[in-house]
Amino acid sequence: MDQLITGIHHVTAIASSAQDNIDFYVGVLGLRLVKKTVNFDGPDVYHFYYGDEAGNPGSILTFFPYQGLTNGRQGKGMLNTTAFSVPSSSLNFWLDRLKKFGINYKEPDERFEGEAVVYFEDKDGLGLELVFNDKDTRPCFTHGHIPAEHSIKGFYSVEIWEEGYERTAGLLTEQLDHKLIAEKGNRFRFAATNTPGNYVDILCSPDSMKGLAGSGTVHHIAFATPDKKSQAEVRIRILKRMLNPTPILDRNYFTSIYFREPGGVLFEVATSGPGFAIDEPYEHLGEALKLPAQFEQDRERLEKTLPRITVNTEKYK
Ligand code: ZN
Repeated sequence: MDQLITGIHHVTAIASSAQDNIDFYVGVLGLRLVKKTVNFDGPDVYHFYYGDEAGNPGSILTFFPYQGLTNGRQGKGMLNTTAFSVPSSSLNFWLDRLKKFGINYKEPDERFEGEAVVYFEDKDGLGLELVFNDKDTRPCFTHGHIPAEHSIKGFYSVEIWEEGYERTAGLLTEQLDHKLIAEKGNRFRFAATNTPGNYVDILCSPDSMKGLAGSGTVHHIAFATPDKKSQAEVRIRILKRMLNPTPILDRNYFTSIYFREPGGVLFEVATSGPGFAIDEPYEHLGEALKLPAQFEQDRERLEKTLPRITVNTEKYK
């Protein structure tokens, strides 16, 4: 059978303050804001996309910042931690940096061989990790204010908590082209492509509380598929598994289908292209508010009502 899924495309989470979100992800972590748009399903909220220089699949963390929204709760049936990949030699740089900006973190812990993991959270309590490793061959990031040798290369892995892991594992391996590549205790690691940026860890967590949506929680995870043709084939597989996928939706920068996996996490399958340079040049990604055609008529009102934000990295150098 053809491989239709290549790995992780993006993770989308919920935040409570647009400016705090920008300050943390662009300022502290040094990601690039590659797109400033609105929620295509409700344009009164921003949709920020952060990523590597170009916003390549496997590096994109996106947010819907609902001003003042109450915190959610991590738990089972939810993607609780999104991990970024950084070189092993950057450990001290990042621990110093987290300290400098008053961000609490857990001491480094070896998970699988060759990966030192540091857990921390953003202001809303979203679970994040830096995974220090030497197996990530993706190029250094030269766009931002973090020295290239220490910069985030993209995702390393994601962690999903489930009541039981079997049904989700079945979906990943049978319909979404993943393989079980490692396991330790209650952690089962899957990947469609066995490289950093694509690891999906399922944690069997029957005793944890159920996750609750709110700020500081993940809304969905998207897997990458090459194009519309492969996406249509994945959709047929999902239909056959009786998981009721949406029709193919146009998200401007990719097309998408959505469905809920058996444990409760919202999954998306997104095309790798056309990407973020479709409506603004690479050099100016993320600078202007970009609206899809259906909301252009509403631009004046949206520009007035969406919170004013600035991207200023000066104090984060
Ligand atoms: Zn998405």
